[in-house]
Amino acid sequence: MQVSVDRDRCCSSGMCVMNAPEVFDQDERDSLVRLRRTTLRPDQFEAVGLAAELCPGGAITVTADGTDRTGT
Ligand code: SF4
Repeated sequence: MQVSVDRDRCCSSGMCVMNAPEVFDQDERDSLVRLRRTTLRPDQFEAVGLAAELCPGGAITVTADGTDRTGT
């Protein structure tokens, strides 16, 4: 399972960092999302999926087995 982010859609809410701090971080300069990793461990799937669903900007995409889940 892979995760990607669209920084152009990020509104710096920090919801993703609260849900999955091992995967998401916020840039010190502009507070926009940064990824700590793009390939997820199985134990991170649930938290990252929730982060994608809750992201107010729809900036997070999770890809697994040819299907996409986004926060939109
Ligand atoms: S939850 Fe979405 S909008 Fe908020 S910081 Fe993370 S990627 Fe950006």
